[in-house]
Amino acid sequence: MFGIWGHPQASRLTYYALHSLQHRGQEGTGIVVTDGAHLQGKKGEGLVTDIFTVQSMAELKGTAAIGHVRYTIGGSDAGYENVQPLLFRSSTGSLALCHSGHLLNGLELRRQLEEQGSIFQTSSDAEVVAHLIRRSKLPALKEQVQYALGLLQGAYAFLLLTERELIAALDPKGLRPLSLGRLGEAWVIASESCAFDIIGAQFERDVQPGELIIVNDQGIHSEVLAPASRNLCAMEYVYFARPDCNLGGINVHTARKELGKQLARECPVEADVVTGVPDSSLSAAIGYAEELRIPYEMGLVKSRYIGRTFIEPSPSLREQGVKLKLSAVRGVVEGKRVALVDDSFVRGTTGKRITRLLKEAGAREVHLLISSPPIRYPCFYGIDTLSTEELLAAHYDLAELTALVGADSLHFLSVAGMRKVLGGGLCLACFTGEYPTEVPEKFEEGKRWQMLTAGRE
Ligand code: AMP
Ligand code: SF4
Repeated sequence: MFGIWGHPQASRLTYYALHSLQHRGQEGTGIVVTDGAHLQGKKGEGLVTDIFTVQSMAELKGTAAIGHVRYTIGGSDAGYENVQPLLFRSSTGSLALCHSGHLLNGLELRRQLEEQGSIFQTSSDAEVVAHLIRRSKLPALKEQVQYALGLLQGAYAFLLLTERELIAALDPKGLRPLSLGRLGEAWVIASESCAFDIIGAQFERDVQPGELIIVNDQGIHSEVLAPASRNLCAMEYVYFARPDCNLGGINVHTARKELGKQLARECPVEADVVTGVPDSSLSAAIGYAEELRIPYEMGLVKSRYIGRTFIEPSPSLREQGVKLKLSAVRGVVEGKRVALVDDSFVRGTTGKRITRLLKEAGAREVHLLISSPPIRYPCFYGIDTLSTEELLAAHYDLAELTALVGADSLHFLSVAGMRKVLGGGLCLACFTGEYPTEVPEKFEEGKRWQMLTAGRE
Protein backbone atom coordinates (compact mmCIF):
# COMPACT_ATOMS: atom_id res chain seq x y z
CA MET A 1 0.00 0.00 0.00
CA PHE A 2 1.03 3.55 -0.59
CA GLY A 3 -0.61 6.87 0.24
CA ILE A 4 0.33 10.50 -0.34
CA TRP A 5 -1.20 13.81 0.76
CA GLY A 6 -0.31 17.28 -0.50
CA HIS A 7 1.59 16.83 -3.77
CA PRO A 8 0.60 18.01 -7.29
CA GLN A 9 2.02 14.80 -8.82
CA ALA A 10 0.18 12.49 -6.40
CA SER A 11 -0.91 9.81 -8.88
CA ARG A 12 2.42 9.66 -10.72
CA LEU A 13 4.33 9.28 -7.44
CA THR A 14 1.88 6.59 -6.33
CA TYR A 15 2.54 4.76 -9.61
CA TYR A 16 6.30 4.78 -8.98
CA ALA A 17 5.81 3.73 -5.38
CA LEU A 18 3.55 0.83 -6.37
CA HIS A 19 6.18 -0.23 -8.85
CA SER A 20 8.67 -0.58 -6.01
CA LEU A 21 6.10 -2.55 -3.99
CA GLN A 22 5.20 -4.90 -6.85
CA HIS A 23 6.91 -7.84 -5.12
CA ARG A 24 4.20 -7.69 -2.44
CA GLY A 25 1.44 -8.66 -4.88
CA GLN A 26 1.02 -9.30 -8.57
CA GLU A 27 -2.67 -10.18 -8.95
CA GLY A 28 -4.06 -6.67 -9.32
CA THR A 29 -3.43 -3.02 -8.67
CA GLY A 30 -5.31 0.24 -8.30
CA ILE A 31 -4.91 3.94 -7.60
CA VAL A 32 -7.53 6.40 -6.31
CA VAL A 33 -6.75 10.10 -6.45
CA THR A 34 -8.51 13.21 -5.18
CA ASP A 35 -8.38 16.83 -6.29
CA GLY A 36 -10.18 17.93 -3.12
CA ALA A 37 -13.59 17.89 -4.81
CA HIS A 38 -13.89 14.37 -6.26
CA LEU A 39 -12.36 10.93 -6.00
CA GLN A 40 -11.51 9.01 -9.13
CA GLY A 41 -9.69 5.77 -9.62
CA LYS A 42 -8.39 3.17 -11.98
CA LYS A 43 -7.69 -0.47 -11.24
CA GLY A 44 -7.24 -3.80 -12.95
CA GLU A 45 -5.97 -7.34 -12.69
CA GLY A 46 -2.28 -7.54 -13.49
CA LEU A 47 0.99 -5.79 -12.85
CA VAL A 48 1.41 -2.06 -12.26
CA THR A 49 2.99 -1.63 -15.71
CA ASP A 50 0.10 -3.55 -17.34
CA ILE A 51 -2.67 -1.49 -15.76
CA PHE A 52 -1.30 2.06 -15.82
CA THR A 53 -0.04 3.97 -18.82
CA VAL A 54 1.32 7.49 -19.20
CA GLN A 55 -2.13 8.49 -20.44
CA SER A 56 -4.02 6.96 -17.51
CA MET A 57 -1.65 8.72 -15.10
CA ALA A 58 -2.38 12.04 -16.78
CA GLU A 59 -6.11 11.44 -16.31
CA LEU A 60 -5.75 10.77 -12.57
CA LYS A 61 -5.36 14.40 -11.50
CA GLY A 62 -5.13 15.40 -7.87
CA THR A 63 -2.97 16.22 -4.90
CA ALA A 64 -3.59 13.12 -2.80
CA ALA A 65 -3.81 9.43 -3.63
CA ILE A 66 -3.76 5.90 -2.30
CA GLY A 67 -2.63 2.81 -4.21
CA HIS A 68 -2.44 -0.92 -3.70
CA VAL A 69 -0.94 -4.06 -5.19
CA ARG A 70 -2.90 -7.17 -4.51
CA TYR A 71 -1.77 -10.51 -3.16
CA THR A 72 -4.60 -13.02 -2.88
CA ILE A 73 -4.81 -15.70 -0.21
CA GLY A 74 -4.73 -18.91 -2.24
CA GLY A 75 -6.69 -17.20 -4.99
CA SER A 76 -9.80 -17.01 -2.77
CA ASP A 77 -10.22 -13.28 -3.25
CA ALA A 78 -9.38 -13.23 -6.93
CA GLY A 79 -11.37 -11.17 -9.41
CA TYR A 80 -11.54 -7.61 -10.65
CA GLU A 81 -14.05 -6.49 -8.03
CA ASN A 82 -11.64 -7.38 -5.22
CA VAL A 83 -8.81 -5.29 -6.63
CA GLN A 84 -8.19 -2.36 -4.29
CA PRO A 85 -8.56 0.48 -3.45
CA LEU A 86 -12.33 0.03 -3.24
CA LEU A 87 -14.15 3.25 -4.04
CA PHE A 88 -17.52 4.05 -2.42
CA ARG A 89 -19.65 7.02 -3.39
CA SER A 90 -22.46 8.57 -1.37
CA SER A 91 -24.34 11.87 -1.26
CA THR A 92 -22.24 12.91 1.74
CA GLY A 93 -18.91 12.31 0.02
CA SER A 94 -16.74 9.52 -1.33
CA LEU A 95 -14.41 7.12 0.43
CA ALA A 96 -11.62 4.95 -0.95
CA LEU A 97 -10.09 2.21 1.10
CA CYS A 98 -7.36 -0.39 0.80
CA HIS A 99 -5.89 -2.82 3.29
CA SER A 100 -3.21 -5.36 3.90
CA GLY A 101 -3.63 -8.32 6.25
CA HIS A 102 -6.54 -10.45 7.26
CA LEU A 103 -9.45 -9.99 9.68
CA LEU A 104 -10.08 -12.99 11.92
CA ASN A 105 -13.68 -11.89 12.40
CA GLY A 106 -14.20 -10.64 8.84
CA LEU A 107 -16.80 -13.27 7.95
CA GLU A 108 -18.67 -12.80 11.22
CA LEU A 109 -18.84 -9.02 10.74
CA ARG A 110 -19.95 -9.53 7.15
CA ARG A 111 -22.80 -11.80 8.25
CA GLN A 112 -23.91 -9.30 10.89
CA LEU A 113 -23.86 -6.49 8.35
CA GLU A 114 -25.81 -8.58 5.84
CA GLU A 115 -28.45 -9.30 8.49
CA GLN A 116 -28.72 -5.53 8.97
CA GLY A 117 -29.28 -5.03 5.24
CA SER A 118 -25.83 -4.39 3.78
CA ILE A 119 -25.17 -5.72 0.32
CA PHE A 120 -21.61 -6.64 -0.63
CA GLN A 121 -20.00 -6.45 -4.03
CA THR A 122 -16.69 -8.04 -3.08
CA SER A 123 -15.34 -10.69 -0.72
CA SER A 124 -12.74 -8.25 0.60
CA ASP A 125 -12.33 -7.31 4.26
CA ALA A 126 -11.92 -3.71 3.06
CA GLU A 127 -15.59 -3.60 2.10
CA VAL A 128 -16.61 -4.85 5.55
CA VAL A 129 -14.66 -1.97 7.10
CA ALA A 130 -16.22 0.55 4.69
CA HIS A 131 -19.72 -0.62 5.71
CA LEU A 132 -18.84 -0.41 9.39
CA ILE A 133 -17.59 3.15 8.90
CA ARG A 134 -20.70 4.23 7.01
CA ARG A 135 -23.12 2.46 9.37
CA SER A 136 -21.82 4.16 12.49
CA LYS A 137 -23.98 7.16 13.16
CA LEU A 138 -21.09 9.17 14.58
CA PRO A 139 -20.66 12.72 13.21
CA ALA A 140 -16.99 12.89 12.12
CA LEU A 141 -15.04 10.47 9.94
CA LYS A 142 -12.38 10.08 12.60
CA GLU A 143 -14.93 8.79 15.12
CA GLN A 144 -16.53 6.58 12.48
CA VAL A 145 -13.16 5.00 11.65
CA GLN A 146 -12.33 4.65 15.33
CA TYR A 147 -15.64 2.86 15.89
CA ALA A 148 -15.02 0.49 12.96
CA LEU A 149 -11.46 -0.30 14.02
CA GLY A 150 -12.69 -1.12 17.52
CA LEU A 151 -14.71 -4.00 16.07
CA LEU A 152 -11.87 -5.61 14.13
CA GLN A 153 -9.81 -8.61 15.19
CA GLY A 154 -6.72 -9.78 13.36
CA ALA A 155 -3.93 -8.24 11.37
CA TYR A 156 -4.50 -5.15 9.32
CA ALA A 157 -3.04 -1.99 7.95
CA PHE A 158 -5.52 0.37 6.29
CA LEU A 159 -5.34 3.45 4.12
CA LEU A 160 -8.45 5.57 3.60
CA LEU A 161 -8.86 8.53 1.32
CA THR A 162 -11.63 11.12 1.16
CA GLU A 163 -11.79 14.50 -0.53
CA ARG A 164 -10.62 16.05 2.74
CA GLU A 165 -8.21 13.61 4.38
CA LEU A 166 -5.91 10.63 4.23
CA ILE A 167 -6.19 8.19 7.13
CA ALA A 168 -3.83 5.34 8.03
CA ALA A 169 -4.40 2.71 10.70
CA LEU A 170 -2.40 -0.23 11.99
CA ASP A 171 -3.70 -3.10 14.12
CA PRO A 172 -2.89 -3.07 17.87
CA LYS A 173 -0.49 -6.00 17.48
CA GLY A 174 1.46 -4.26 14.73
CA LEU A 175 1.59 -7.40 12.58
CA ARG A 176 1.88 -5.71 9.21
CA PRO A 177 4.59 -3.20 8.32
CA LEU A 178 3.65 0.44 7.69
CA SER A 179 5.96 3.45 7.54
CA LEU A 180 5.50 7.21 7.51
CA GLY A 181 7.64 9.56 5.43
CA ARG A 182 7.92 13.10 4.06
CA LEU A 183 8.42 14.45 0.60
CA GLY A 184 8.89 18.21 0.94
CA GLU A 185 5.55 19.44 2.31
CA ALA A 186 3.77 16.20 1.41
CA TRP A 187 3.19 13.24 3.73
CA VAL A 188 3.64 9.68 2.49
CA ILE A 189 2.75 6.31 4.00
CA ALA A 190 3.87 2.95 2.64
CA SER A 191 4.07 -0.76 3.44
CA GLU A 192 7.82 -0.65 2.87
CA SER A 193 10.36 2.14 2.97
CA CYS A 194 11.67 1.25 -0.53
CA ALA A 195 8.58 3.10 -1.82
CA PHE A 196 10.00 6.28 -0.23
CA ASP A 197 13.42 5.81 -1.78
CA ILE A 198 12.06 5.54 -5.30
CA ILE A 199 10.25 8.89 -5.07
CA GLY A 200 12.96 10.65 -3.07
CA ALA A 201 10.94 10.84 0.16
CA GLN A 202 12.50 10.74 3.63
CA PHE A 203 11.62 7.96 6.04
CA GLU A 204 10.24 9.50 9.25
CA ARG A 205 9.24 6.51 11.38
CA ASP A 206 7.34 3.22 11.52
CA VAL A 207 3.64 3.58 12.23
CA GLN A 208 3.01 2.39 15.79
CA PRO A 209 0.82 -0.63 16.61
CA GLY A 210 -2.73 0.57 17.21
CA GLU A 211 -1.95 4.01 15.76
CA LEU A 212 -4.40 6.12 13.76
CA ILE A 213 -2.88 8.85 11.58
CA ILE A 214 -4.94 11.56 9.93
CA VAL A 215 -3.38 13.85 7.34
CA ASN A 216 -5.19 16.84 5.84
CA ASP A 217 -4.44 20.37 4.71
CA GLN A 218 -4.12 21.43 8.36
CA GLY A 219 -1.28 18.94 8.96
CA ILE A 220 -0.88 15.57 10.59
CA HIS A 221 -2.64 14.23 13.65
CA SER A 222 -1.80 10.93 15.29
CA GLU A 223 -3.02 8.94 18.25
CA VAL A 224 -2.60 5.42 19.55
CA LEU A 225 -6.10 3.99 19.95
CA ALA A 226 -5.32 0.80 21.81
CA PRO A 227 -2.59 -0.22 24.26
CA ALA A 228 -0.13 -1.73 21.90
CA SER A 229 2.87 -3.99 21.50
CA ARG A 230 4.64 -4.74 18.23
CA ASN A 231 4.51 -8.24 16.75
CA LEU A 232 5.83 -7.58 13.26
CA CYS A 233 5.56 -10.59 10.94
CA ALA A 234 8.97 -12.32 10.93
CA MET A 235 8.31 -13.53 7.38
CA GLU A 236 8.68 -9.91 6.27
CA TYR A 237 12.39 -10.22 7.10
CA VAL A 238 12.63 -13.77 5.75
CA TYR A 239 10.80 -13.50 2.44
CA PHE A 240 8.37 -10.68 1.83
CA ALA A 241 10.12 -7.35 2.06
CA ARG A 242 12.60 -6.05 -0.47
CA PRO A 243 16.26 -6.27 0.60
CA ASP A 244 16.69 -2.49 0.33
CA CYS A 245 13.84 -1.87 2.77
CA ASN A 246 14.31 -1.05 6.47
CA LEU A 247 11.88 -2.64 8.92
CA GLY A 248 11.91 -1.71 12.59
CA GLY A 249 15.16 0.12 11.94
CA ILE A 250 16.87 -2.97 10.46
CA ASN A 251 17.84 -3.28 6.80
CA VAL A 252 16.24 -6.41 5.33
CA HIS A 253 19.31 -7.53 3.35
CA THR A 254 21.47 -7.21 6.46
CA ALA A 255 18.91 -9.12 8.54
CA ARG A 256 18.82 -11.94 5.96
CA LYS A 257 22.60 -12.06 5.79
CA GLU A 258 22.76 -12.30 9.58
CA LEU A 259 20.18 -15.11 9.49
CA GLY A 260 22.50 -16.92 7.04
CA LYS A 261 25.49 -16.36 9.34
CA GLN A 262 23.58 -17.65 12.34
CA LEU A 263 22.56 -20.71 10.30
CA ALA A 264 26.22 -21.29 9.48
CA ARG A 265 27.13 -21.15 13.17
CA GLU A 266 24.33 -23.57 14.03
CA CYS A 267 24.62 -25.92 11.02
CA PRO A 268 28.00 -25.78 9.29
CA VAL A 269 28.26 -28.25 6.38
CA GLU A 270 31.30 -29.30 4.40
CA ALA A 271 30.79 -27.86 0.94
CA ASP A 272 32.80 -26.55 -2.00
CA VAL A 273 30.34 -23.81 -2.95
CA VAL A 274 27.36 -21.99 -1.43
CA THR A 275 24.48 -20.92 -3.62
CA GLY A 276 21.10 -19.34 -2.91
CA VAL A 277 17.64 -19.66 -4.46
CA PRO A 278 17.03 -16.41 -6.37
CA ASP A 279 15.98 -13.85 -5.30
CA SER A 280 14.89 -13.78 -1.68
CA SER A 281 17.53 -16.27 -0.43
CA LEU A 282 20.62 -14.64 -1.89
CA SER A 283 21.38 -12.44 1.12
CA ALA A 284 21.17 -15.42 3.50
CA ALA A 285 23.40 -17.48 1.16
CA ILE A 286 26.00 -14.70 1.14
CA GLY A 287 25.93 -14.64 4.96
CA TYR A 288 26.25 -18.41 5.19
CA ALA A 289 29.23 -18.44 2.79
CA GLU A 290 30.93 -15.51 4.50
CA GLU A 291 30.70 -17.08 7.95
CA LEU A 292 32.14 -20.42 6.82
CA ARG A 293 34.62 -18.91 4.32
CA ILE A 294 33.24 -21.07 1.52
CA PRO A 295 33.01 -19.42 -1.93
CA TYR A 296 29.58 -17.97 -2.70
CA GLU A 297 28.71 -18.82 -6.29
CA MET A 298 25.86 -18.23 -8.70
CA GLY A 299 24.75 -21.85 -8.95
CA LEU A 300 21.25 -20.94 -10.12
CA VAL A 301 20.04 -18.39 -12.64
CA LYS A 302 16.50 -17.05 -12.72
CA SER A 303 14.82 -16.03 -15.95
CA ARG A 304 13.78 -12.40 -15.80
CA TYR A 305 10.88 -12.88 -18.11
CA ILE A 306 8.70 -15.46 -16.39
CA GLY A 307 6.27 -14.01 -13.89
CA ARG A 308 3.86 -15.74 -11.56
CA THR A 309 1.23 -15.57 -14.24
CA PHE A 310 3.12 -18.09 -16.38
CA ILE A 311 0.56 -20.63 -17.63
CA GLU A 312 1.34 -24.20 -16.62
CA PRO A 313 -1.24 -26.41 -18.31
CA SER A 314 -0.17 -29.93 -17.30
CA PRO A 315 2.06 -31.52 -14.62
CA SER A 316 4.80 -32.38 -17.13
CA LEU A 317 4.77 -28.86 -18.55
CA ARG A 318 4.71 -27.51 -15.01
CA GLU A 319 8.00 -29.31 -14.36
CA GLN A 320 9.28 -27.76 -17.56
CA GLY A 321 8.07 -24.42 -16.18
CA VAL A 322 10.43 -24.75 -13.20
CA LYS A 323 13.32 -25.31 -15.56
CA LEU A 324 12.34 -22.26 -17.59
CA LYS A 325 12.20 -20.18 -14.43
CA LEU A 326 15.41 -21.44 -12.80
CA SER A 327 18.47 -23.05 -14.36
CA ALA A 328 21.42 -24.63 -12.62
CA VAL A 329 24.83 -23.36 -13.74
CA ARG A 330 26.57 -26.63 -14.66
CA GLY A 331 30.01 -25.04 -14.77
CA VAL A 332 29.61 -23.96 -11.14
CA VAL A 333 28.04 -27.03 -9.55
CA GLU A 334 29.34 -30.00 -11.56
CA GLY A 335 31.29 -32.40 -9.34
CA LYS A 336 30.89 -30.06 -6.34
CA ARG A 337 29.42 -30.39 -2.85
CA VAL A 338 26.80 -27.66 -2.92
CA ALA A 339 25.35 -25.87 0.13
CA LEU A 340 21.99 -24.69 -1.19
CA VAL A 341 20.40 -21.93 0.92
CA ASP A 342 16.67 -21.20 0.74
CA ASP A 343 14.86 -18.71 2.97
CA SER A 344 11.89 -20.82 4.03
CA PHE A 345 10.31 -24.23 3.84
CA VAL A 346 6.55 -24.38 3.30
CA ARG A 347 5.43 -27.30 1.15
CA GLY A 348 8.99 -28.35 0.40
CA THR A 349 8.38 -28.00 -3.33
CA THR A 350 11.15 -25.52 -4.06
CA GLY A 351 13.76 -27.42 -2.05
CA LYS A 352 12.86 -30.68 -3.77
CA ARG A 353 12.85 -29.24 -7.29
CA ILE A 354 16.08 -27.32 -6.93
CA THR A 355 17.91 -30.17 -5.28
CA ARG A 356 17.00 -32.28 -8.31
CA LEU A 357 17.97 -29.51 -10.70
CA LEU A 358 21.42 -29.22 -9.10
CA LYS A 359 21.93 -32.99 -9.10
CA GLU A 360 20.92 -33.19 -12.76
CA ALA A 361 23.55 -30.53 -13.44
CA GLY A 362 26.18 -32.77 -11.86
CA ALA A 363 26.33 -31.62 -8.22
CA ARG A 364 28.01 -34.38 -6.19
CA GLU A 365 26.16 -33.52 -2.97
CA VAL A 366 23.37 -31.07 -2.21
CA HIS A 367 22.92 -29.86 1.37
CA LEU A 368 19.72 -27.86 1.77
CA LEU A 369 19.95 -25.11 4.38
CA ILE A 370 16.87 -23.13 5.36
CA SER A 371 17.51 -19.72 6.91
CA SER A 372 14.34 -19.84 9.03
CA PRO A 373 12.80 -22.49 11.29
CA PRO A 374 10.40 -25.07 9.81
CA ILE A 375 6.89 -23.67 9.25
CA ARG A 376 4.58 -25.98 11.18
CA TYR A 377 1.58 -23.78 11.93
CA PRO A 378 -0.83 -21.89 9.66
CA CYS A 379 -0.81 -18.12 9.38
CA PHE A 380 -4.09 -16.36 10.15
CA TYR A 381 -2.77 -12.90 9.37
CA GLY A 382 -2.85 -12.64 5.61
CA ILE A 383 0.19 -14.63 4.52
CA ASP A 384 -0.40 -17.45 2.10
CA THR A 385 0.47 -20.46 4.23
CA LEU A 386 -2.70 -22.43 3.99
CA SER A 387 -3.83 -25.22 6.27
CA THR A 388 -1.50 -27.33 8.39
CA GLU A 389 -2.15 -30.20 5.99
CA GLU A 390 0.04 -28.54 3.38
CA LEU A 391 2.92 -27.66 5.69
CA LEU A 392 5.36 -30.50 5.14
CA ALA A 393 7.35 -29.91 8.32
CA ALA A 394 4.16 -30.32 10.38
CA HIS A 395 3.98 -33.98 9.41
CA TYR A 396 7.48 -35.35 9.04
CA ASP A 397 10.65 -35.42 11.10
CA LEU A 398 13.99 -34.17 9.81
CA ALA A 399 15.14 -37.53 8.43
CA GLU A 400 11.85 -38.00 6.57
CA LEU A 401 11.94 -34.44 5.20
CA THR A 402 15.51 -34.95 4.01
CA ALA A 403 14.48 -38.10 2.14
CA LEU A 404 11.40 -36.37 0.70
CA VAL A 405 13.39 -33.48 -0.77
CA GLY A 406 16.14 -35.84 -1.94
CA ALA A 407 18.99 -33.80 -0.41
CA ASP A 408 22.11 -35.26 1.19
CA SER A 409 21.25 -33.30 4.33
CA LEU A 410 18.67 -30.74 5.44
CA HIS A 411 19.09 -28.10 8.14
CA PHE A 412 16.92 -25.36 9.61
CA LEU A 413 17.71 -22.24 11.63
CA SER A 414 16.49 -22.55 15.22
CA VAL A 415 13.78 -20.30 16.66
CA ALA A 416 16.30 -19.11 19.28
CA GLY A 417 18.75 -18.27 16.47
CA MET A 418 16.11 -16.27 14.64
CA ARG A 419 15.23 -14.37 17.83
CA LYS A 420 18.90 -13.69 18.47
CA VAL A 421 19.30 -12.10 15.02
CA LEU A 422 16.00 -10.25 14.68
CA GLY A 423 15.36 -9.33 18.32
CA GLY A 424 11.98 -9.10 20.01
CA GLY A 425 8.69 -7.59 18.93
CA LEU A 426 8.03 -10.19 16.26
CA CYS A 427 5.29 -12.62 15.35
CA LEU A 428 6.86 -16.06 14.99
CA ALA A 429 3.58 -17.96 15.17
CA CYS A 430 3.99 -20.07 12.02
CA PHE A 431 7.25 -21.39 13.51
CA THR A 432 6.19 -21.68 17.16
CA GLY A 433 2.39 -21.94 17.22
CA GLU A 434 2.31 -19.02 19.70
CA TYR A 435 -0.12 -16.56 18.15
CA PRO A 436 -0.06 -12.91 19.23
CA THR A 437 -3.85 -12.67 19.07
CA GLU A 438 -6.58 -14.97 20.20
CA VAL A 439 -7.36 -17.37 17.41
CA PRO A 440 -11.09 -18.05 17.18
CA GLU A 441 -11.99 -21.68 17.77
CA LYS A 442 -13.41 -22.07 14.31
CA PHE A 443 -9.93 -21.44 12.94
CA GLU A 444 -8.71 -24.66 14.50
CA GLU A 445 -5.89 -26.31 12.60
CA GLY A 446 -6.60 -27.40 9.10
CA LYS A 447 -10.02 -25.76 8.98
CA ARG A 448 -8.88 -22.35 7.97
CA TRP A 449 -9.26 -22.80 4.29
CA GLN A 450 -12.82 -24.05 4.58
CA MET A 451 -13.64 -21.12 6.89
CA LEU A 452 -12.30 -18.55 4.51
CA THR A 453 -14.26 -19.84 1.59
CA ALA A 454 -17.45 -20.74 3.49
CA GLY A 455 -20.48 -18.90 2.23
CA ARG A 456 -18.68 -17.14 -0.58
CA GLU A 457 -19.85 -19.28 -3.48
P1 AMP B 1 7.85 -24.28 -0.63
O1 AMP B 1 8.45 -24.48 -1.98
O2 AMP B 1 6.36 -24.53 -0.61
O3 AMP B 1 8.55 -25.01 0.48
O4 AMP B 1 7.96 -22.73 -0.27
C1 AMP B 1 9.20 -22.15 0.04
C2 AMP B 1 9.62 -21.20 -1.04
O5 AMP B 1 8.58 -20.28 -1.33
C3 AMP B 1 10.85 -20.41 -0.66
O6 AMP B 1 11.72 -20.43 -1.78
C4 AMP B 1 10.35 -19.00 -0.41
O7 AMP B 1 11.21 -18.03 -0.96
C5 AMP B 1 8.97 -18.95 -1.05
N1 AMP B 1 7.94 -18.42 -0.13
C6 AMP B 1 7.95 -18.36 1.20
N2 AMP B 1 6.79 -17.82 1.67
C7 AMP B 1 6.03 -17.54 0.60
C8 AMP B 1 4.73 -16.97 0.42
N3 AMP B 1 3.98 -16.59 1.46
N4 AMP B 1 4.25 -16.84 -0.85
C9 AMP B 1 4.99 -17.25 -1.91
N5 AMP B 1 6.24 -17.78 -1.81
C10 AMP B 1 6.75 -17.93 -0.57
FE1 SF4 C 1 4.10 -13.74 9.66
FE2 SF4 C 1 4.11 -16.31 10.34
FE3 SF4 C 1 3.09 -14.48 12.02
FE4 SF4 C 1 1.84 -15.10 9.72
S1 SF4 C 1 2.16 -16.45 11.49
S2 SF4 C 1 2.17 -13.04 10.55
S3 SF4 C 1 3.58 -15.46 8.33
S4 SF4 C 1 5.24 -14.68 11.34
